[in-house]
Amino acid sequence: MNKLKITSIVVLILLSLTLNAKKEAEVKLKWQAIQVAENLYMLMGVGGFTGGNLGLSVGEDGVVLIDDAMPTTLDIMNQALAEITPKSIDFLINTHVHGDHAGNNETMGKNGAAIVAHQNLRKHLLTKGIQTPDGKIEAPKKSLPVITFSESVDFHLNGIEAHIFHLPHAHTDGDAAVHFTTANVIHMGDTLFNRMFPYIDFSSGGSLDGYIEAQKTVLGLVDEKTKIIPGHGVLANKQDLQNSIAMLEEARTIISELIQQDKSEEQVLKLNPLSKFNKWSWAFITTEKMTKQIYKGIMLSEK
Ligand SMILES: [Zn+2]
Ligand SMILES: [Zn+2]
Repeated sequence: MNKLKITSIVVLILLSLTLNAKKEAEVKLKWQAIQVAENLYMLMGVGGFTGGNLGLSVGEDGVVLIDDAMPTTLDIMNQALAEITPKSIDFLINTHVHGDHAGNNETMGKNGAAIVAHQNLRKHLLTKGIQTPDGKIEAPKKSLPVITFSESVDFHLNGIEAHIFHLPHAHTDGDAAVHFTTANVIHMGDTLFNRMFPYIDFSSGGSLDGYIEAQKTVLGLVDEKTKIIPGHGVLANKQDLQNSIAMLEEARTIISELIQQDKSEEQVLKLNPLSKFNKWSWAFITTEKMTKQIYKGIMLSEK
């Protein structure tokens, strides 16, 4: 090969690399709105991790936002919200305490939103504070829910009935689902990661059996036409929820049999018993992490 040929090949490779890099840069991080019913939207991140999926109810009675992601995506969230409504947020419902769902509470509270959440979420904020990039700090007063409930609370706004109810010891101990009964839409927060392995926060009161139970409770409320907003992943339907329950129950059975054979966590991991569910694996919860999580969940439930 002569020098000229080699140089032109190198130039071509460099050019294609530059073009590819440009293509990737064009997929900008943003919130995409999907209308799920009249006056009702799901907002999900595209182009990267923006935080948990949002729900939004707009209309003549006011604006209700479900979850508020995290500070790093506040500006693009506000942009996306402004494209749907010029009005400010009247009520903010937190599905649970995690920073990718309740991370902008203080800003929302300062801007006049009344924050609504399960009572354990408020308790967690008061006792554990919040995690910031600089470490843990005391939760600012404006980030706290001003309305809490133990079992459920109902909203009657914008011509839609919304039943907000507690799902005990599931993803955390302060989970709430928001069921827009008349619109046949339900926001499940992180009690559903759609088409991906879920994360169960045992240190915040979540449990494996409570998690499965929460999904079964919601399954009892939906039909083939229900639009299910998951905490993470694309808009879900009844089949997605059934698939998730089936995966979790089978994973529990597989690992529980190994535990009954006195296998240690290390031995179980070596067997890679959940490899059949590899397609549910993602960056944060890989098949290995999921195996550990199910193992731990069973051990904790037997204590
Ligand atoms: Zn989340
Ligand atoms: Zn979460």
